[in-house]
Amino acid sequence: MEDGNYEKLVHLISKSSSLPRDEIEKKVVAKRERISGLISKEGAAQIIAAELGVSLDGGKLKIDELLSGMKKVNVVGKILNISPVRSFTTKNGKEGKVVNLIVADETSNVKVVLWDLNHIVKIEKNEISHESVVEITNGMMRENELHLGNFSEIKLSGEEIGEVKTARVVKEKKISELNMGDNAKLRAFIVQAFEPKPFNVCKECRKKAVQEGDYFTCAEHGKTIPEKRFLMNFVLDDGTGTIRAVAFHENLKNLGFADFENPEILARQREQILGKEMFFSGNVRMNKFFNNQEFSINAIEGINIDELIAVAGKNGI
Ligand SMILES: [Zn+2]
Repeated sequence: MEDGNYEKLVHLISKSSSLPRDEIEKKVVAKRERISGLISKEGAAQIIAAELGVSLDGGKLKIDELLSGMKKVNVVGKILNISPVRSFTTKNGKEGKVVNLIVADETSNVKVVLWDLNHIVKIEKNEISHESVVEITNGMMRENELHLGNFSEIKLSGEEIGEVKTARVVKEKKISELNMGDNAKLRAFIVQAFEPKPFNVCKECRKKAVQEGDYFTCAEHGKTIPEKRFLMNFVLDDGTGTIRAVAFHENLKNLGFADFENPEILARQREQILGKEMFFSGNVRMNKFFNNQEFSINAIEGINIDELIAVAGKNGI
C-alpha cells in the first residue's frame, strides 16, 4: 500500500468513528510501538479500525482477511464441519451450550464458535447443517476464531459458493513480513530457549484452569480436575528478523523434550535445540501479559534437505 492509501484509511476511520484524525494517527503510532514496529502503518490502522468497530468496506470480508481482534465481522461461507453440541454449567449456575463450526469460502476457512442458544437451536433443529451456506454478521475475532455472541447473527444465505478451501491455509512467510493474526509457516533458527513454565488445564476441554483456593475452575466447566502442562518460550530468527514464540506440550515433545522436572536433562535438551533450523507453523497473536507480539506455534517439522533439493530441482532451480 502506498502512503496515499494510509491517508485514505485514516480519513475513513476518523469519519466512521467521529474521532479526530490526529487521534487516530496517535493510536497508530502507539500500536506500532507496542508491537515493536513489526507491522506497517496501514496494518496498524486496520487493527485500530477493527478495535473501534469500524468496518472499512462496510460489507463482507473474505475469510483470509480476518485478523485477530476484529469486531463486527461479516462473512459468508459454507459449513464444512459441525461439532457435537456441548452443554456446561456457567459460573453462576446457568446452563450454557457451545458448538464449533468450520466455515469456508474460496480463500480460507475459520473456526466459528457459537455461544448463543438462539443460534445453537438452529443447529439442533437442523435448520443449519453440514454444507449450508451461511451469512454471519457481527462476529468477533478472538485469536484465530470467530466468536458469535448474542449481538451476532447466523442465518442461511442464498449466495452461491463455489470451490472452497478445505485445508487450513498456511503461507510460508519471513519473520519481517508477519502481521497480527497471520497464520504462517516460518523456516527459522531457535536462537533462545527459556525455562519451561508449568500451567494447568481443564481435563475436559484442555483450556486454562485457574486455581481458586484449593480447587481449580475452568470458564466452561466450572470446578474441574486440572492437568499439569508445560509451555516454553523461544526466540526464532530467520535472518530477516526475530520473534518471540511459544510452544506447548505436544510440540515440545516433538522438539525432543521428554522431562521437564529433571533440571539436568532439561538443561541438556535446551542446549541441544539451540541453533536448530526447523519449520514452525502457527499464528501471530498478542501476548496479554507482556503486551507484545508472539508467534504461537501449533506444529513443528524438521527440515528434510533431500526433499527441499528435490523440489528445487523440479522447479528448475
Ligand atoms: Zn473445561
